[in-house]
Amino acid sequence: MTASDTAQDLDALLEEVAEVARPTARQGELADYIPALRDEDPDCFGLAMVDMDGTEYVVGDVDRPFAIQSISKVFSLVLAMQKADRAEGVKKELWDRVGVEPSGDPFNSLIQLEREKGIPRNPMINAGALVVDDVLLGHCENPREEMKALVSELAGEEVTIDERVADAEEGTSGRNRAIAYLMQSFDNLHHTVDEVIDAYAHQCAVQMTARQLARASRFLANDGVDPATGKQILRPPLARRVAAIMLTTGTYDAAGEFAFDVGLPCKSGVAGAIMALAPDRYGITVWSPPLDSSGNSRAGHVALHELAERLELSIF
Ligand code: GLU
Repeated sequence: MTASDTAQDLDALLEEVAEVARPTARQGELADYIPALRDEDPDCFGLAMVDMDGTEYVVGDVDRPFAIQSISKVFSLVLAMQKADRAEGVKKELWDRVGVEPSGDPFNSLIQLEREKGIPRNPMINAGALVVDDVLLGHCENPREEMKALVSELAGEEVTIDERVADAEEGTSGRNRAIAYLMQSFDNLHHTVDEVIDAYAHQCAVQMTARQLARASRFLANDGVDPATGKQILRPPLARRVAAIMLTTGTYDAAGEFAFDVGLPCKSGVAGAIMALAPDRYGITVWSPPLDSSGNSRAGHVALHELAERLELSIF
């Protein structure tokens, strides 16, 4: 089989996967807490898969931007782990203040936090992401710009932040503020709640496309090296740890289900995107806005299942 046959086969395979997944979107529901999500077209569907040579296999709406929402938690964690790798003190600070266990509770729950004295279970739930932002505020000149620069570099294109989405996030941040105040009461927040919420709202509002996210994820499937530039973004053991956190905690409280029927480290966001890593092979992102009851893209889940089965991508 020649290289171009393979590329054609993969294009056809992505079309087939999209055909199976697309109709299932109607079983899900749009997130409705802010206008940008409530007003999204539920029929949008994009699937992008980028290999380590940079070949891009795409189908559907892969160039239409959306807010990356919780997927940003991966990139803020990467930034914090970069800082932690350069200073033992930051490493201790980071991992003393946030755990690496699945929570089994909704991503914005307060219950566990009260019981566990303000230490979030992991960096992919809101409480954990707020602690990561607090760490970044202490160690970056401008966390918002540094994160934007990191994802732009990885995506190979300048990304933007939608200020309207950031404002809407801040306007509906009651629960995240409650989480932040609770952590502050346990001395696990060192900046003001306003500063931390502002950083978090802006990272949720980063606009990217499925194609850009698929590109940006590749370094995590490539021992921490961005295949586009050869730059080591994270040392290999650290890149593997990020992947481990994604696998065990990246899809809200359906991480077991994703491990079971997709078998790839994934991170999803409330705008309906799921970013997945196929180690040594592909960076993948699927976007379809309607969500299932766990908050994961309904059709995105189906698409990743189909793709992983057909290409035998599972890491297990
Ligand atoms: N901005 C959302 C929140 O914090 C992000 C949710 C998500 O994508 O999981 O509630």
